[in-house]
Amino acid sequence: MGLEGNIIKSDSNSEFLKTIAVSRTPTEKYYISILTDDGEKCPEPESFSHATMIGVDVGLLTFATLSTGEKIDNPKFLKISLERLKFLQRRVSRKVIGSKNRRKAAYKLAKLHEKIANQRHDFQHKVSKKLISENQAVAVETLNIKGMKKNHKLAQAISDSAWYSFVQKLTYKAEWSGKTVLKIGQWESSSKTCSVCGYKHPNLTEDIREWLCPSCNVLHDRDINAAINIKKFAVGTTV
Ligand SMILES: [Zn+2]
Repeated sequence: MGLEGNIIKSDSNSEFLKTIAVSRTPTEKYYISILTDDGEKCPEPESFSHATMIGVDVGLLTFATLSTGEKIDNPKFLKISLERLKFLQRRVSRKVIGSKNRRKAAYKLAKLHEKIANQRHDFQHKVSKKLISENQAVAVETLNIKGMKKNHKLAQAISDSAWYSFVQKLTYKAEWSGKTVLKIGQWESSSKTCSVCGYKHPNLTEDIREWLCPSCNVLHDRDINAAINIKKFAVGTTV
């Protein structure tokens, strides 16, 4: 298959067809992506208000938490696949380098990587479609790329890359339907700040999932509070 990795430009007579790209996965599956342009412009973004938008907080334990209080968990099949991924990774590392058994184990691992990628894309397409269709605007935190590179924890790395591809899906779905994605820089205080009165918790460690604001006496779920703050910060109001 000599076409692999090539981008083939369409002939100049065709306005519709832009490029065709051929790619191959590590398990020898070939994909052809065809980029076309129907000439139609994306709709103008519709206006939004506090009432018609949501904030979304990304998490390790829950995939996403919404400012409405709703929590979107990673699907169970994805968790099972991720457990199996750890198991297969250990198996590959225990085989002798260059051996047939190692190649076999590596192939199985690559197959599982592909399966997880497909499961994740499917899940993310469904969630992003729902969020964009139900709201006029969605506020999210963008990732700290420097932090991502320094991070060696597998769970965090997987969560970061999943979030990145989710935000991409949200963004283009919003463009297609006249909605808005508001991206704010990763903001350390989104969990620590009381979304009701603005009080800042002095030492909110990762293990604290709930906290009572000593200033206004509101009990906060850590992630819901963060999602509300992300929404407020995105539209320029801190309290
Ligand atoms: Zn408070």
